[in-house]
Amino acid sequence: MIPLSIPNFEGNEKKYVEDAVEQGWVSTGGAYITQLENMMAGYLRAESVAACQSGTAALHLSLVDAGVGAEDMVIVPTLTFIAAVNPVKYQQAEPIFMDCDETLCIDPKKLRKFCEEECDDIDGRLIYKGNGKQIKAVVVVHVFGNLADMEQIMEIAEDHHLIVIEDATEALGTHYIGGRFEGKYAGTIGHYGAFSFNGNKIITTGGGGAAIARTGEMTEHIKYLSTQAKDDPHLYIHNEVGYNYRMTNLQAALGVAQLEELPEFIRRKQRNYALYQELFSDMPLVKILPFREGTDSNQWFYALDLSMEKICGSLYDVMNEMEKRGVQTRAIWGLVHEQKPYKNAIAYQIEKAVYYSGRILNIPCSTQITEQEIREVASVLTDVLGEMSYE
Ligand SMILES: *Cc1c(COP(=O)(O)O)cnc(C)c1O
Repeated sequence: MIPLSIPNFEGNEKKYVEDAVEQGWVSTGGAYITQLENMMAGYLRAESVAACQSGTAALHLSLVDAGVGAEDMVIVPTLTFIAAVNPVKYQQAEPIFMDCDETLCIDPKKLRKFCEEECDDIDGRLIYKGNGKQIKAVVVVHVFGNLADMEQIMEIAEDHHLIVIEDATEALGTHYIGGRFEGKYAGTIGHYGAFSFNGNKIITTGGGGAAIARTGEMTEHIKYLSTQAKDDPHLYIHNEVGYNYRMTNLQAALGVAQLEELPEFIRRKQRNYALYQELFSDMPLVKILPFREGTDSNQWFYALDLSMEKICGSLYDVMNEMEKRGVQTRAIWGLVHEQKPYKNAIAYQIEKAVYYSGRILNIPCSTQITEQEIREVASVLTDVLGEMSYE
């Protein structure tokens, strides 16, 4: 079986984890945590980084620090992993679901139209006409490592007083190479950025994540919240409600080794994507989605747009057929606004997300995948689609 995406531990992982165990520093204190934070801050050219238990925790703490609460609304994409949205609910705020464009990321045109037509600007606050509540923030997901249109989004956010929380959980390393944000990395452009080191992300700590805020002071506050908001090292003084969201030293040991390999992982992801691109270039029924021009993407996941109207069966039938022939694939997420906890939420002109959710297939993209395996994936897909096509 050629797996979809598996972790790669070819570097110093074992050595550093063993070292952490030997030293006895396995929990939320220890040198690997600060080392990981400093390495990431250096790599992303950020002032500081707060290492967390998960990407979800990083997103949650960003919302907490941004002051999003029960009276507020937050704009979110519907075409995303649900973890990008749930933290809005943790804060008892209300999500407003937005469509994607052909990049699979949030559609800036619709975002602007929504702010202009469905909202009022009252004393520098964006108020949703439908219920009089303030829309405080927008969560922007860089889907599959592809940068959302941050130039447009930041302009809209500036015009309409929105806090921008970047879900960069899939986009560690992706950055602009030109334009207004030249040299800027995903997660460092908005007010907050969240990263994930879950098992299938570009680097992994088993489970883990990190948060970055626009100022070092804000990031320090997130760190404080992640460690039970402890104000005094000895006396157990707590001036806020905190969380147990801090990364452990064991996770960070793994993370430091993974970060050392990140440039090599990205290089392989890009090389493999280029080969897939070549193999699919003249293949009917398949289009491999590009990454945004003017950016250098980590190319974490590859998305195929299948011409389902010409295929007899669903995306799941294609997946099952591939699986039978030894290739693991994955369908894109079910839309979040259609999930049970969000059935009654506001969804604004969702069209493209519906279209893409029935036709995007992810294919094997591990950093260890061989050239031969990539050719095998393409050949199996050719066979499967050939057999299932109406033509
Ligand atoms: C992985 C992921 C998350 C959550 O990260 P965890 O570390 O698993 O909590 C959030 N949003 C998106 C888009 C993701 O892919």
